[in-house]
Amino acid sequence: MLKNNKIIIVGGGPSGLFCAYLLLKEDYDVDLYDQSSGLAKKFLIAGNGGLNLTHSEKIDEFSKRYTHNESLFEDLITDFTPGDLRAFCLELGVETFVGTSGRVFPKKLKAGEILVNWSKELKAHPNFNLYLKHSLVDITQSKELTFINEEKTITAKADIIIMATGGGSWKKTGSDGKWLELMDKLKIKTTALKPMNCGFEVSWSEILIKKLDRAHLKNINISFDNHTSRGEIMITPSGIEGGGIYAISNFIRDAITESGESVTITLDLKPDLNLNQVKEKLKSKKNKDSQANHLRKSLNLDKVAITLLNEVSRDITAEMIKSLPIKLNKTNPVDEAISTSGGVLFSELSPNLESIKVPGIYFAGEMLDFEAPTGGYLLQGCFSTAYRVVSGIIS
Ligand SMILES: Cc1cc2nc3c(=O)[nH]c(=O)nc-3n(C[C@H](O)[C@H](O)[C@H](O)COP(=O)(O)OP(=O)(O)OC[C@H]3O[C@@H](n4cnc5c(N)ncnc54)[C@H](O)[C@@H]3O)c2cc1C
Repeated sequence: MLKNNKIIIVGGGPSGLFCAYLLLKEDYDVDLYDQSSGLAKKFLIAGNGGLNLTHSEKIDEFSKRYTHNESLFEDLITDFTPGDLRAFCLELGVETFVGTSGRVFPKKLKAGEILVNWSKELKAHPNFNLYLKHSLVDITQSKELTFINEEKTITAKADIIIMATGGGSWKKTGSDGKWLELMDKLKIKTTALKPMNCGFEVSWSEILIKKLDRAHLKNINISFDNHTSRGEIMITPSGIEGGGIYAISNFIRDAITESGESVTITLDLKPDLNLNQVKEKLKSKKNKDSQANHLRKSLNLDKVAITLLNEVSRDITAEMIKSLPIKLNKTNPVDEAISTSGGVLFSELSPNLESIKVPGIYFAGEMLDFEAPTGGYLLQGCFSTAYRVVSGIIS
């Protein structure tokens, strides 16, 4: 591609910003448009939870996390690895570390430092133009773009367009998923955006709601069908949230959609003990002990676990402790999900993530039809797809 060709990136989240960074390094001219008033607002919010950038596990294990696209992501992540992502952070002056779980975080556990250094570098580049508060509302086959900026209509023409407009959750960050309609117009096929890494609605009793408000239950196993996740959940007045349920939320979501009914998950409140061991510990009850005291002393179960057990029965058994059923009615609203799956189908794209129907339009990041659990897999997916896009453009 000629260096004086006009490249427009739509979307200033990590995917769009990384495309800009790589293209500017190669001395291309880049115009970046975003409808928000600031860059990478979702990335900043992700930083509130520690900013899990990526994971240190081997690539063959890593790529298994991309449920329906394992081999594609093995290829993408081999090209731009978790190590490369850490090296990029270091280029920006931000050190990272591997936590005990193998997850990778910036040393300060925040996104701010990365974003400040990153945007400073982009903005200082003479070939970079940034247009905030510009909403893309139309795009044609001949790569004319129409934006709305504070009620004014602005048009631009590009040789290459990189779409990096994200998923459809946390709309207040600018990621509203409205770009799906623009793809319909271009006849680029997409699938609907669905909540991923999401919580679920549960009809708790009034008693439980009063006793537990945003209470955490740590180090449990959450199982649905043949999927099990180890982690933490949070009990909210309307249901459950948290990393432990997010990890298998796609399977639960699909089962609810397919059956049109609620589904039942089970919690193992003592995953490091087998059923017999739990039974043995329960046997040791002294007469003067209340059931709650006995559960606390013998099995170290806390108020949250005991309240949940009482929600099912007053007569608590070892079987219940190892397999406590919880009925999930539906997913929480898509806007509350950590990410969305669905978006532009890979079958519409070349290996370089360029539209086959409209050559010259490329796609990067969460707007592509992939899903992955939390654990750094989302951001790594964004960076690796952005890297592939730019490799395709500059080759
Ligand atoms: C609470 C929370 C915690 C998270 N924690 C983690 C984590 O620890 N690790 C991890 O890997 N992932 C995490 N994620 C997910 C991660 O932040 C996203 O997957 C990632 O930001 C997606 O990057 P993206 O650049 O593809 O899209 P986005 O970050 O969504 O950026 C898209 C950009 O496009 C702009 N845009 C959209 N439509 C238009 C339009 N029509 N015109 C102009 N601009 C438009 C938006 O304003 C936005 O700035 C978290 C997400 C949330 C909500």
